[in-house]
Amino acid sequence: MSEIIKTRALVLSKLNYGETSKIVAFYTEDNGKFTGIIKGARSPKSKIGKAADVLNLVEIQYYQKENREIQLVSGVEILNYFPKIKSDLDKLKYASTIIEPLIYLTVEHEVNEKLFRGVIKILELMNDSADDLKVLAIKFLNFFIKELGFELKFDSCSLCGTEINQNEDLAYDFSHGLLCPDCSHNSKGNYFIQKELLKILYCIKHRKSFKYNDSDLIKLIKFFERFLMFQFSEFKGFRTLNMI
Ligand SMILES: [Zn+2]
Repeated sequence: MSEIIKTRALVLSKLNYGETSKIVAFYTEDNGKFTGIIKGARSPKSKIGKAADVLNLVEIQYYQKENREIQLVSGVEILNYFPKIKSDLDKLKYASTIIEPLIYLTVEHEVNEKLFRGVIKILELMNDSADDLKVLAIKFLNFFIKELGFELKFDSCSLCGTEINQNEDLAYDFSHGLLCPDCSHNSKGNYFIQKELLKILYCIKHRKSFKYNDSDLIKLIKFFERFLMFQFSEFKGFRTLNMI
């Protein structure tokens, strides 16, 4: 038995298959990440083949069969193709810090509507607003790790529980969390984190406005990259960001 499903989806990647088909990875609102095949998608006449392009927000229709690894997609309609992101290398670079974690770090068929809506909201802001792209990427990464169950905590030392003084440089241990100066001396594998960066993370968490400079933002993106690489050995870093 197969069931017809309609859902919003973000196109994560695509691959030519056989003579005329495409294999496409979607991140969907109602069924998480999954892979589908669009038959005849590479024919010039195929509207759904064109619609299933990477970074498009689409509405798809597919036949869901439980024990089939690749689902048959029969309809794809574009809802937003984020044209300004696609025509601007800088926007594209930071949009990849959203797409790549979805590709490599989400679990197939694990539904998270909040994460889906958050992804779309950040892509809309990257496309339409003049907000700083690095700030948007950091906001997303902070939200993403929280949705994966790794919320950053800044109130007390993760080892001894001492209240954290946010006016000093501290260390972050990826297995435990933020460390007070005493504990950081005894712990290996720390990531040194300056007070300016802590303040930004604290403000993002508490939705307060903050001052920043470009180099602080780059350091924070690196912090999240290291964090994800530590938690998920299969994650090798932000490929596109490090390439361009
Ligand atoms: Zn401590």
